[in-house]
This record gives sequence, structure tokens and C-alpha cells, in this order.
Amino acid sequence: MKVPWISKERIALKAMDLIEAFQAVAGYRVKPPIPVEDIIERALGLRLLYEDLEKVFGSNHVLGATYVESGVICINERLFEHSSEGRLVFTCAHEVGHWVLHRRYVDMEETNNSKGEAIVCSLKNAKAPIEWQADHFAACLLMPEKEIREAFDKVCNSEPIIIKNAMSRVNMGARCDEPFVEQWPFIAAAMCEAGGFSNVSKQAMIIRLQDLGLLINKTSTEMNWQTLCSNVNV
Ligand SMILES: [Zn+2]
Repeated sequence: MKVPWISKERIALKAMDLIEAFQAVAGYRVKPPIPVEDIIERALGLRLLYEDLEKVFGSNHVLGATYVESGVICINERLFEHSSEGRLVFTCAHEVGHWVLHRRYVDMEETNNSKGEAIVCSLKNAKAPIEWQADHFAACLLMPEKEIREAFDKVCNSEPIIIKNAMSRVNMGARCDEPFVEQWPFIAAAMCEAGGFSNVSKQAMIIRLQDLGLLINKTSTEMNWQTLCSNVNV
């Protein structure tokens, strides 16, 4: 499905609007961990279901689906088997992103998937603009900028972390008193602890820090589990 371009700032504002709407309904001030399931059911009035989406869609790449006409968010229950709480919660928040940002673009008559009017999220189309937008919404909802910066002040005294070293370069004159790129899980874990982001994965946290310019990776090694050195004990 094609959707119009929308700025990161606007997506962040939409996520903050939703938190405010939930606070008005719930009657208390929300702080991390952000209660996404409650937001789905109480602020948006949607039903949240866990189903075997591999059976529903005949594909093992589907993470979640948002049914616009019936007001249902469905998460693949198989995520319980092989994913962390962080991955599960992020998928819920991602579907909320589709509901907030994209439901108006669903053409009820043209869709022909098995349940009609669904936005279906598959690993296969993870790089499509619609998926990127929902991912950014999820990050902004689960890790609001204000709370991230407050936690970062506690952990790092406000100064952005600039990572220039990879362990593979340790014998090539890299300085050992500066952080290595392979140590990113420790930085992410410290942030989750300091800010109470207990339902956020380390991977999502490290992406958010880079997105806000609080962590700058100048190495050619990406900060993800695939590129992590096998000799780093995390
Ligand atoms: Zn999606």
C-alpha cells in the first residue's frame, strides 16, 4: 500500500498526542514502560488479539495485522515462542502506528486479503515507506524523546556518545579507553534501566539513540545482533 511522505517530527507529534489522549482516559500521567496494550484498548477502543497469523495468511513472515473496518489489531502469537517481550510490544506499537497514520488510506473495496480490510505487516516488506513510518511511530511511542533525554543525562551526562572503535581494530592502534561498537548492548541496557524502558529491546533502544543524535556510530560495523562479535559476552 502506498502512503504519502510524512516527516519524523510529525510522526513523533502523533505519538505524543496518543499518549496524551490515553492519559486523559486513564487519569494518570504515563511514564515508561509505556502500556501499549492499554493504549490500544482504552484510548483507541480497538480489540487486541493474538492469533497464529502464519495459518491465517499462509506465510511465516507475518508479524501483525491491523483490521481497519472491524477495529482489530492482531499480533502473531508465535512471537511468544521465539521473541522477547520487547519485540512483542514493539509489534503492538507498530500496528498502532498503522492505525493512527494509515487507516484512512485503506481502500475497503480494493483490498482482497483473507479478512478484507487489513494492513498486513510482513518481514518481506519491512523496508517499504508504510512500514518505516509505523516503526518510527512505535519508537516514538515507546521511547518518548523527553524521557530518553532524561535517561541519557543520567547515563552519559548529556554528551553524545561518539563511537570510533571496533574490536577488530584493537591491534591497529585503536584507543582502549573509548567505547567499542561491539559494546552497544551495554549502552542500551544502561538506558533501559535508567529510564524504566523495561518493555523495550536493546536493539530498538540503540536505534532510537542514533535517531536522536545521542549516539553516533562512526565505524563501519552496524549495531545489531548479526554484526556483534561472537566473542563479546552480552
Ligand atoms: Zn507494518
